Amino acid sequence: MAELLQSYLSGRWIGRKEGKQLLDASTGAVVATTATDPLDFEEALAWAKSRQASGILGIDFQARAAILRSLAKHLSEHKEAFYSLSYATGATKKDSWIDIDGGIGTLFAYASMGANELPSGNLIHEGPAVQLGKENRFAGSHVLVPKRGLAVHINAFNFPVWGMLEKFAPSFLAGQPCIFKPATATSYLTQAVVKEMLASGLLPEASLQLIIGGTGDLLDRLGPQDAVTFTGSADTAFMLRSHPNILRNGIPFNAEADSLNAALLCPDVSPEDEEFKLFVREVMREMTVKAGQKCTAIRRIIVPRPMAQAVAEALKTSLLKVTLGDPRAEATTMGPLASLDQQADVRAVIEELSKESDIIFGGQDHQSRIHSAAGSSAEKGAFLSPTLLFAKKSDATAKVHNLEAFGPVSSIIAYDQIDEAMSLLAYGRGSLVASIITKTPSMARTVVEASAAWHGRLHILDRVSAAESTGHGSPLPMLKHGGPGRAGGGEELGGIRTVSHNLQRTAVQGSPSMLTAATGEYVRGADVRESELHPFRRYFEDLQVGDSLLTHRRTVTEADIVNFGGVSGDYFYMHFDELAARNSQFGKRIAHGYFVLSAAAGLFVWHAEGPVLANYGLDSLRFVKPVAPGDTIQVRITCKRKIDKPKRKPDQPAQGVVAWDVQVMNQDAALVASYDILTLVAKKAQPAA
Ligand code: NAP
Repeated sequence: MAELLQSYLSGRWIGRKEGKQLLDASTGAVVATTATDPLDFEEALAWAKSRQASGILGIDFQARAAILRSLAKHLSEHKEAFYSLSYATGATKKDSWIDIDGGIGTLFAYASMGANELPSGNLIHEGPAVQLGKENRFAGSHVLVPKRGLAVHINAFNFPVWGMLEKFAPSFLAGQPCIFKPATATSYLTQAVVKEMLASGLLPEASLQLIIGGTGDLLDRLGPQDAVTFTGSADTAFMLRSHPNILRNGIPFNAEADSLNAALLCPDVSPEDEEFKLFVREVMREMTVKAGQKCTAIRRIIVPRPMAQAVAEALKTSLLKVTLGDPRAEATTMGPLASLDQQADVRAVIEELSKESDIIFGGQDHQSRIHSAAGSSAEKGAFLSPTLLFAKKSDATAKVHNLEAFGPVSSIIAYDQIDEAMSLLAYGRGSLVASIITKTPSMARTVVEASAAWHGRLHILDRVSAAESTGHGSPLPMLKHGGPGRAGGGEELGGIRTVSHNLQRTAVQGSPSMLTAATGEYVRGADVRESELHPFRRYFEDLQVGDSLLTHRRTVTEADIVNFGGVSGDYFYMHFDELAARNSQFGKRIAHGYFVLSAAAGLFVWHAEGPVLANYGLDSLRFVKPVAPGDTIQVRITCKRKIDKPKRKPDQPAQGVVAWDVQVMNQDAALVASYDILTLVAKKAQPAA
């Protein structure tokens, strides 16, 4: 008997009544049946919210990043089961790799970015603070804090694993409990992953819930601290984002919707060029990977008119090599669509598109070469031949710029001038991604400048980038995913940016000491603590933000400049040519800025062995004023920020990161150099267990 797919709400699996049968995309066999019992969303929301403070917010950014890493490892160890199940969605092994390993890879990426870029605690200071009063008694800055609410993530059917995990990772880091609502058609795969996430025992209580089926009255019950993200069709996005409760409560609604992505072949490329082959390869890949059911797939192939025929022939030759079939069969290179409903939808769109375009490959009546594995059949499976069209009409109102066939379907559009090509790119009214294939950097610049406003990502492809390019269709954790207009106007991924989107940004004003206390980060002008003990002699646990040292002084001499020039080989005229220096904006010779840095280090370091293990960088360096021979410098170094790092390996020495605010001043107490230095500071030795 097929598995009954239950929802996971309020800490338990719910569902007894059989609902919709979910079918294998190739064979039509029943994979699972959804449970249709009514779901109590009032209880589910209350359950998650009442446990947020002690659960997901009972630990901090750093601890959550460490959990993400362990979770990614755990899911990796169980991924073979997901791969087996994924065949039923119509995905080939390669397609599943994008979904499953792509999803787990996103968890790993967010684990690293979280560990490296987020602070300890649950408050981010988004500095620097700005001085608002003449005497620096009143300043302002921004903090980012977790909202006291949860995120509802509604996903499309095409990436049941990646779609969930790429939303989960930034939400989890931000301390938001999540409720996932996968698309019903492939929800059995999402559910399998959720079960494993829960079985890992790694997640704080109530961080995760799952809805199989409809969302009932959930959206009516959300409050002002909650958020909704959505991936799917533009129509559903419109309906959900205009939900009265979402509007009334100002609930953030992030949408990733269907989009008519394009690839532009620039006129500087000829059919003999390597770039031409790369273009054809990229379009082919986008048409056939996941049977074209990718939000980023290339729907519009924009080519110079003289090359249109060559492009069409090259694509047809490649498409003939596609073997459509059950993804379990070894010979299969492209699987079916995810469901018969989807097949019917795509056929209907091809029909519409063909009113203004010629079908030059595939289409409704095309005899697909279906490679069957045991049990699959052309009738029961949601197979659809790759279909290539040639647009006869291509003005702004043409269907090719307005209708998305969410399958292996793409249209060639010819242009005469590059300006016209850029208009064609824009006629899609906003897309997730466009590829630009050119050999000429100035051409790339022209297209980027004219077209970036219409696309979430621009992928410039030539023979240099090809060897390492991750491709047109791959959203990456560190780069923004999401596009303007028709693409939904949302933003996902893009590194820690997305975590910030999930947090509340609040401006905070007050005296520097108040801001230091409120943000957890030293703000210049705040009271500092000085003591006999040099701050570099304190272990991580003993150091406090605001611990400070004012060094003794050093007068910069002619000999310093000469010696530093000799050591560094830097004989820049400003340091060595009296006449040229007189004509400069300073009117005299000055010391090397890097000498000032080195001399400052000489003034503030504690020379003997101690808890400071390493200096690993320097941020925000500014040389504010020149230092000339005869000037006397002095340094104030203050503990600015501490980041407690959980140990990654048991044999690693326990340590944390400490950022120090450094101000180098001259004899008039004027700032001459300003920067942060980053150090690793040891924790006290733990007694053996
Ligand atoms: P869809 O029909 O819009 O459904 C998307 C999600 O919304 C599904 O989980 C669906 O659940 C849910 N949903 C539908 N009506 C709802 C309602 N009244 N209340 C709450 N949830 C509701 O899209 P799809 O067919 O799954 O996906 C295909 C489309 O998504 C394509 O157009 C494609 O371009 C787009 N897409 C965009 C991106 C992107 O990142 N921009 C990524 C992937 C796909 P049910 O399945 O239960 O109906």
